[in-house]
Amino acid sequence: MNLTESIEEKSFRNEVRDFVTKNLPADIKDKVLTFRHLAKEDYVRWHAILDSVGWSAPSWPVEYGGTGWSGTYRTIFEEECLLGGAPRLLAHVGMIGPVLINYGTEQQKDFFLQKTRALELLWCQGYSEPGAGSDLASLKTRADREGDHYVVNGQKTWTSLSHWADWMFALVRTSQTERPQDGISFLLIDMNTPGITRRQIRQVNGADELTEVFFDQVKVPVENLVGDENKGWTVAKSLLQHERMNQADIGLCARMMRRLKEVAMNQEKRGRPLLADPVFRARVSTVEAELMAHQWAIKRTLSLMENGDGGRIGIPLLKLGATAIVQKASELLMECAGPDALPFISEALNEENSIELPNAIEIHTLMANYLDWRKISIYGGTTEVTKGIVAKQIGL
Ligand SMILES: Cc1cc2nc3c(=O)[nH]c(=O)nc-3n(C[C@H](O)[C@H](O)[C@H](O)COP(=O)(O)OP(=O)(O)OC[C@H]3O[C@@H](n4cnc5c(N)ncnc54)[C@H](O)[C@@H]3O)c2cc1C
Repeated sequence: MNLTESIEEKSFRNEVRDFVTKNLPADIKDKVLTFRHLAKEDYVRWHAILDSVGWSAPSWPVEYGGTGWSGTYRTIFEEECLLGGAPRLLAHVGMIGPVLINYGTEQQKDFFLQKTRALELLWCQGYSEPGAGSDLASLKTRADREGDHYVVNGQKTWTSLSHWADWMFALVRTSQTERPQDGISFLLIDMNTPGITRRQIRQVNGADELTEVFFDQVKVPVENLVGDENKGWTVAKSLLQHERMNQADIGLCARMMRRLKEVAMNQEKRGRPLLADPVFRARVSTVEAELMAHQWAIKRTLSLMENGDGGRIGIPLLKLGATAIVQKASELLMECAGPDALPFISEALNEENSIELPNAIEIHTLMANYLDWRKISIYGGTTEVTKGIVAKQIGL
């Protein structure tokens, strides 16, 4: 297993870095690097720039308009984009695309793939429900077959970005079976169908990305079923595999680390930069060492996967690694600013910032981001559940 970067990989890294430097709009970059809220239009604009050079769907095969990149190239791409100040790609493209390619009908592929890749339509993920998060198979939202359509009733929760979404890929119960996984189907639901109500969940950092979605007698055509009826669990698991690989989050980890060092250089303690303080510096170095270990762990997992390993242990470990780095870096960032980081001024997080701030913008977004990053140990599988998966895989 050769874990060092090849000449081709280094040259690809430079190509991506150069592209981001030349093409990322300055206003988006500024918001991203100061960790302020992004608007839908910011994501759409950057996505269109990537789409114009064929880079908007890194995990899709070339014949469907993707890049056909290996995992290693995708990781380099993500790291360089995020370090350069680009928004993350909306994760739904990388989740639903491969699923439709593997399980969708020709009609579904024709209708959805190109529009999804170009972000002409946006998706949300309707898996979790009140009482069905970690124990997803206990979900209760029903889809009853009536002629050529299903009638959906129930509730989804923690649905990210549903207020931007045109469509939802949802897990629904189509049968009551002894083993709950056996009665679940994977359905594509047009979010403009009558009977759907969305209610926003206000987040601790003042953002409004999360929603509850209610279904009341919602009619969904049978042709929107992906895979066979009652076999949606297999489709759902394949999608989660793509979601978890994204959660290695190398770009975010690297960006947080760079930010930490910048802020620690700009903050003074006893007449010198905080980063020159031996104790603080040692703590920063510890997280940096974890980042380096994470980079190697990603390479190792990708290399094993390219040689036939399914990543069953590697991928959950990467999620745990990314969670630890992001959360520790955000804690140290808070410590850099000390009490100055405490005031929560929501205007500082938004572009339309007309008020005068007592400190630099980078200080005012620290608290909101520190609180926000607690979410990484919950979404896509909580830390406790992920550790349970690893333990099971290694036979504990
Ligand atoms: C920011 C954010 C965005 C999200 N976006 C989406 C989305 O777009 N679509 C979607 O469908 N869902 C989304 N989710 C939901 C997410 O998938 C769930 O929150 C997650 O699966 C945990 O489920 P839960 O919240 O119901 O917690 P629970 O499953 O009720 O867990 C509660 C606590 O019990 C612990 N626990 C549960 N089971 C075990 C076990 N077997 N062993 C040890 N400990 C256990 C958990 O670790 C946790 O600490 C999002 C969540 C967040 C925070």
